[in-house]
Amino acid sequence: MNATRYYSVRMHASCAGDHISGAERIVTGDRIAETMTLLLDRTKGRTSLPDRTVVTIDDLGPARPQTIPALNLTNVLVDAPAQGRSLAKHVLIHAGIAPQAIEAVMEWLSNGAAPGGKNMRGAMIVDAATGERLEPDQGRGIRASRFDWNAASEICIREKLNAVGLSHHRTREALALASKIAGGPAVAGELCWSDDPDYQAGYAASRATGYVRFPRMKNPGNVHGGRALFLQDRSRLQSLIEYLELRAVLIEPAGSCSEAADLKAVLGANSRR
Ligand code: AMP
Repeated sequence: MNATRYYSVRMHASCAGDHISGAERIVTGDRIAETMTLLLDRTKGRTSLPDRTVVTIDDLGPARPQTIPALNLTNVLVDAPAQGRSLAKHVLIHAGIAPQAIEAVMEWLSNGAAPGGKNMRGAMIVDAATGERLEPDQGRGIRASRFDWNAASEICIREKLNAVGLSHHRTREALALASKIAGGPAVAGELCWSDDPDYQAGYAASRATGYVRFPRMKNPGNVHGGRALFLQDRSRLQSLIEYLELRAVLIEPAGSCSEAADLKAVLGANSRR
């Protein structure tokens, strides 16, 4: 592998066809071997072991990937999932998304957005005005790929997230993903909470509001969750899908990370992004 070219390195581990873990990086050729080892380490020490692990390496060429600035993150403390979801709705309304579209998405995320009430493997794409679903396959959804922190920004964001008590790699990766998504053509915003029964946090994000994280968006043990992207202009659907799946982006610079008890201050402060 050529040290001066960029590569997308992706790992996907599964058991009996079910997803167990996945992760990805963008690196120069000289860092491929160490990156593969780090990604494979992710599959160790889990309760369910994979019976299949696939690592994919794609040559992205000699040009440095496009950069996208990270969203500012605010962690808004909430007492209960109902409060988290209600505040997330406010965030998305502030980003210009119709209440009926947000309500439709919350209903799908709560009950399993894939056929048969299952969770999707990727994200829904939803018309921001009507709530109509636009992704071509409602089981698979659209998976955003080929994104990573630039090396210096990653060091910076780790420190900033640690300072607000968010040291898990999960938050760092979700913030990079949301930053890529928010930079996509005609994206008005995004809503996400995990389908992992042991993880209750979620977020609402947009360029207009930043990444607003809520530690509680569902109760422990709840297996339903997912991601939805709200699209402002349906004629941009195909360009958005191509951007999400294929365009390599490095996230830089890192944004700010803070904690808040009041959403009003957050929406005022992040309006410039
Ligand atoms: P997670 O936050 O990793 O638990 O993911 C929550 C949900 O978001 C998953 O069930 C998928 O539906 C969706 N998702 C996860 N990763 C991606 C991705 N890279 N692109 C689009 N959707 C994703």
